[in-house]
Amino acid sequence: MTYDVIVAGTGPAGLMTAERTSHYGLKTLVLEKRSSVTHSLMGELVTDKALKLLRVKPDSEYIGNKYTSIVGESLDTGSNIVVDRSLLGNSYLFDEDKCQELMRDRALSDNAEFIYNARVNSVVRENGSVVGVNYNHGEVERGSLTVGADGSFSRVSETAGFTHPKWLLSYGYRFKLTNCKGIDPGTAYFFVGKDVGLGYLWLYPRSETETNLGIGRVPSSKKNWKALPPMQDVLRKYMKTHPETKDAKIASVNGGVVPCAGIIPRFTDAGVALCGNSAGQVSSIVGGGVTTCFHAGQVLAKHTKRMVDTNDFSKESVSKYEKEYRKTKLASNITNTGKGMWAVSKYAMFNDPIEAAEIVLGQLDAKTLNELIQGHASVGTLMTLMTDFLPMVSRIGIGYLRAIAVSGF
Ligand SMILES: Cc1cc2nc3c(=O)[nH]c(=O)nc-3n(C[C@H](O)[C@H](O)[C@H](O)COP(=O)(O)OP(=O)(O)OC[C@H]3O[C@@H](n4cnc5c(N)ncnc54)[C@H](O)[C@@H]3O)c2cc1C
Repeated sequence: MTYDVIVAGTGPAGLMTAERTSHYGLKTLVLEKRSSVTHSLMGELVTDKALKLLRVKPDSEYIGNKYTSIVGESLDTGSNIVVDRSLLGNSYLFDEDKCQELMRDRALSDNAEFIYNARVNSVVRENGSVVGVNYNHGEVERGSLTVGADGSFSRVSETAGFTHPKWLLSYGYRFKLTNCKGIDPGTAYFFVGKDVGLGYLWLYPRSETETNLGIGRVPSSKKNWKALPPMQDVLRKYMKTHPETKDAKIASVNGGVVPCAGIIPRFTDAGVALCGNSAGQVSSIVGGGVTTCFHAGQVLAKHTKRMVDTNDFSKESVSKYEKEYRKTKLASNITNTGKGMWAVSKYAMFNDPIEAAEIVLGQLDAKTLNELIQGHASVGTLMTLMTDFLPMVSRIGIGYLRAIAVSGF
């Protein structure tokens, strides 16, 4: 049987693509190497935009918690910046399993087929075009369009020949803690510090007694990376030194890897398209991939419908998805923050990133920091930064120039 579309992977990108293509009446097959869509790390902290894209309400069962403020804090000195709703809008914690089941069930009710324990090995090519996938022990499924939504180490991407010249990966673990005491459920925290390195430790409370605690790091230099304590040790130390989590229990652990230097140079070809982490469609500095995956999946599904209607899966036809996607605001935010993250990683090769983070936390205001992180700092903000924080800008700027000079980039 030939499917209209074969989707590899059931993360947020694959599930959203499958939900929408099956909604359009396209014959959709989903292949997932795990045994179910749940119990994985879909991504948890989101804003209103993600809820809108998923079409769920803030007070529905799909939302695990809601935050009124977000705090950035140093674990070493305690200096902090509080970002409230007026800057960020609402922030929510998804109930990941329920959201994944929702997208799966919507797809199933529109006749999508799912095969679990199906590990894609490679794409199948005929006459220069991808015509399906080979999985497990050589089984083959044929489809007019193959979608690689199989994450940061995508087999579809690799075997279809896409390249990642600036592939900067952030490695993270997320621990679900229970038996906590007196946690403020309305505040989410991002901590930086010497033990974390280039990255952050986050605390997303689920209630007064339960929280998600994660640690994400970007490798800077081999020396810096090796000097960092194992993430389990950082977790234990945090738990021990904070009364809220001193007697907490670890209920579950998930890990993952997120690309954080922006969108890859090309992610479409004849008969094949990438979506999500595999294409670098992640908002780099904060590592937010859920909203961007939902968005990319919807753009891709709409174009897949066009391709099926015109029976055109040529390179030019598939690339229209890429062209439209790149023009969107979310894509340009990813590109801007990706450049920022690339610059930060270069800086951290030759300078102390923690010292820079301390300067930023100690001197910047929440509005400016938020604009920089979101990748939409205005000329006015940049001018203010130059005049009001000249010593900070020049200190960090000189460090960055030194990094460029030494690394040749
Ligand atoms: C620790 C951590 C915390 C995060 N927190 C947040 C957050 O709070 N908010 C946010 O927006 N984002 C967050 N992210 C980012 C977000 O989780 C990712 O960007 C997002 O999950 C990417 O979705 P995806 O569908 O592209 O890939 P993935 O979620 O990686 O899904 C890929 C799927 O493909 C399957 N697969 C892989 N290889 C194969 C194969 N060969 N054959 C078949 N199936 C395969 C995998 O099993 C998986 O189900 C976090 C990431 C990490 C690591």
